[in-house]
Amino acid sequence: MAWDFQTDPEFQKKLDWAKEFVANELIPLEPLLGEFSDEVWQKEILAPLKQKVKDQDLWACHLEKELGGQGYGQLPLALMNLVTGRCPFAQEVFGNMAPDSGNAELLAEGGTEAQKEKWLWPNLRGDIRSSFAITEPWVAGTDPTQIQTTAVLDGDEWVINGRKWMITNASRSDFIIFMCVTDADAPVHQRCSMIVVEKGTPGMDVFRDIPTMHHPVESFGELGGHAEITLDNVRVPRDNLIGEVGGGFILSQVRLGPGRIHHATRWLAEAERAFDMLCERAQSRFSFGKPYSKHQMIQEYIADSRIDIETAKLLTLNAAWKMDQVGHHGARAEIAMAKVYNAKVLYNVVDRALQVHGSLGYSCDMPLELMYRSARMAPLVDGANEVHKVTIAKSELKRYTAVEGWPSEHVPTRKEAALKRFEHLLEANS
Ligand SMILES: Cc1cc2nc3c(=O)[nH]c(=O)nc-3n(C[C@H](O)[C@H](O)[C@H](O)COP(=O)(O)OP(=O)(O)OC[C@H]3O[C@@H](n4cnc5c(N)ncnc54)[C@H](O)[C@@H]3O)c2cc1C
Repeated sequence: MAWDFQTDPEFQKKLDWAKEFVANELIPLEPLLGEFSDEVWQKEILAPLKQKVKDQDLWACHLEKELGGQGYGQLPLALMNLVTGRCPFAQEVFGNMAPDSGNAELLAEGGTEAQKEKWLWPNLRGDIRSSFAITEPWVAGTDPTQIQTTAVLDGDEWVINGRKWMITNASRSDFIIFMCVTDADAPVHQRCSMIVVEKGTPGMDVFRDIPTMHHPVESFGELGGHAEITLDNVRVPRDNLIGEVGGGFILSQVRLGPGRIHHATRWLAEAERAFDMLCERAQSRFSFGKPYSKHQMIQEYIADSRIDIETAKLLTLNAAWKMDQVGHHGARAEIAMAKVYNAKVLYNVVDRALQVHGSLGYSCDMPLELMYRSARMAPLVDGANEVHKVTIAKSELKRYTAVEGWPSEHVPTRKEAALKRFEHLLEANS
């Protein structure tokens, strides 16, 4: 019987290496983020760190070997994300930074050889960056069937018009994959297609990075910014279409399904870091004659946080395991559960850690206030939690059908049936 909670010892060695590497080489750099020029940060600092990851065969763990990844599968990847998620720039160092990671999966699935040459391989080498643009300001991002941006064929070119927003890294990207309506009259899930627009294409204006709770001060061109873009008669070659005309929804699922669980797993690593801060503070500070850790309400925060994280880990690893068994489509309810639950866990654990730090937690002298603001995005990105709950409920309801009359568990009805069925036993009893 195969039922095992242990990690393969060989892979555990890799996880141990990654844990040390993140703790000793990446996290110490965090306080200096933004102090280096782009050139120095990329070439002098990140490049040698990336090489160390490659030397350990841990580069681009989300990709298959033929794409330059490791082909480990989702479960080992989830275990790795539980480690790398502790540091916000570890994903870049480990070669699986969103949105590039998902775009690579999309191009690998739907791209032609020429498209892979032009965008996928340079993107995987880290020579160029990419973005993925679905969301628009005027219609619900949770329901992309409402997308309004259009792409119309004119000879050998697509002519694109519309507006997108909250597009991560677009102000830094060399190419952006746009989801556009290519046939408004087609069945609803065949209306859209994915089309690449390269930086500098006339008519495309990446005009601002939107200030957010995470980055409230407006700035333009920072990695991790979320841009607003207008497309005004943008012309790109017909060959910039990825996959089939009308294949946008199918391709978006290829990209978003695995991406969701990758994010959700990293949120747990972040929650774990907040948990460490919570426990350290609880041991270190005193009130009313004893350390906080001896106050029962603080113990409850600690216990609840540990239970939350462990429950979330089990949900997540189960979802990753199922993805390896039946693919991400077959595991979509499990992915949805992990996404919904982990978003709450991150928020709750950071909140408790912040509370226990008092005014220090509220101040910018601790990373908790930033983590708290950033955690607020988790329930609404990658599909709003409400919509994932619909997926979970639908999947559950498939196992049930309506009954006529009383519910199956109605006691008098069951008793009547039992009296008939077990009459002989009752007779023997009398
Ligand atoms: C930090 C960040 C980065 C992002 N990066 C990208 C990116 O790179 N590319 C991109 O295309 N988009 C990106 N987005 C956009 C993101 O995908 C959308 O915000 C998300 O899909 C929700 O869409 P919306 O903002 O239009 O909200 P809406 O669709 O208007 O939803 C708002 C709320 O309405 C409620 N709601 C909606 N539908 C239902 C329902 N069926 N049942 C119950 N309640 C419902 C929920 O409470 C939901 O949170 C990013 C967003 C953020 C915050």
